Amino acid sequence: MKFFVASLLCFFCWNPGLSQGREGFETDIIPTADAELKITFIGHATLFVEYSGKVIHIDPWTNLADYSKLPKADLILITHEHQDHFDKKAIEQLTKEKTEIVCTETLAKELSETKVRILRNNESTEVDGILIEAIPSYNILHKRPDGKPFHPKGRGNGYILNIAGKRILIGGDTENTVELKKLENIDIAFLPMNLPYTMTPEMVAEVAIAIKPKILYPYHFGETDTGKLVKLLKNHSEIEIRIRKMQ
Ligand code: ZN
Ligand code: ZN
Repeated sequence: MKFFVASLLCFFCWNPGLSQGREGFETDIIPTADAELKITFIGHATLFVEYSGKVIHIDPWTNLADYSKLPKADLILITHEHQDHFDKKAIEQLTKEKTEIVCTETLAKELSETKVRILRNNESTEVDGILIEAIPSYNILHKRPDGKPFHPKGRGNGYILNIAGKRILIGGDTENTVELKKLENIDIAFLPMNLPYTMTPEMVAEVAIAIKPKILYPYHFGETDTGKLVKLLKNHSEIEIRIRKMQ
């Protein structure tokens, strides 16, 4: 399985736009009407976006990067409280005087000393001209042995980042919810695929077919076979699937 995934990664290295960025992380440059939009893939559910001098970190996690060597954040988005998404040390290392943090209500309690903006599901806020919309992120099918979902509804956020004239969806730890499937005008989508906590390739394909992002990045995919998703979407050439090192 690992070999197969590795082969796919090599195959997808042919993807246009892919290059090596800071500290050896993969980077994609997305052309926009004015400045370039740059996405750096740290791994798992962790990435950062740069546009016109602004740096936006999403779910920074010190297990994957030395954040003292990465650009400080103008904005940090945190999807939920699980340790692979919420890491106080990473947040501290990325914070400068004017850093804004957007997070859930549960997390705001943990970050009481820091300036944060709480976004509940379906709320939105604007930070420095960047509109951020919070969408629900939760499990429908996948549950713990005690019957509780890994991610109960109302707790975690996915985000839509409106930047550079693009709408970038960061799914968070979610499944194929009705809220996700009715999103419109998504240019770039990050959808999670690690099991049993989030979506199967079939669920990701269903969401992708419903919302038709121009670029789809499966992320947070653990050991799930990204090749399955590629096969499921083989008749949907309108969606460009990009596989990056986001296990
Ligand atoms: Zn989680
Ligand atoms: Zn997670």
